[in-house]
Amino acid sequence: MEIKVSEIPAEGFKIEMVADAADFGKLDEETVIHRPVTASLRVEKVGATVHIKGEIDTVVELTCSRCAKKYDYSVASGLDLDLHPLKGASEEEKELQAGDLDVEFYERDIIDITNLLREQVLLQVPMKPLCSEDCLGLCPYCGQDMNERTCGCKPPEGHPGFEALKDFLKDKG
Ligand SMILES: [Zn+2]
Ligand SMILES: [Zn+2]
Repeated sequence: MEIKVSEIPAEGFKIEMVADAADFGKLDEETVIHRPVTASLRVEKVGATVHIKGEIDTVVELTCSRCAKKYDYSVASGLDLDLHPLKGASEEEKELQAGDLDVEFYERDIIDITNLLREQVLLQVPMKPLCSEDCLGLCPYCGQDMNERTCGCKPPEGHPGFEALKDFLKDKG
């Protein structure tokens, strides 16, 4: 979905949308949007700056960084963005704003809402996805998923992964 900046009325407008997951494609190698993306946005324009504020909701499929299992992760996030016209922005401005996640640019009167929402969803995805805080991961020796059963591998004393596991088991019992 795209909006034309020149067509944003003085009083702004609301977007209530449910976008098909397929519209978003694959977010990256390991991240797939799983359910329709619901967004409720308020769009306003002040001068050439477009202000978009609202909420976005969906479910993405992530791959656990410990056990490699795929699992669903709910994304519910507020967004509050300023979009400036790319044309006319000085290099200095662009550089300053490159580090600011709440500032974006639009080109040629068009704001691609789908793309914007895709970026917002990606921002919510954890760097190290975990199917559960307690995920035991795979045995580094035989590859057994230790959430399912333990294997007989005897690691050398002091292996950091197994120290963590020992602590974890201690906490449990
Ligand atoms: Zn896991
Ligand atoms: Zn093993």
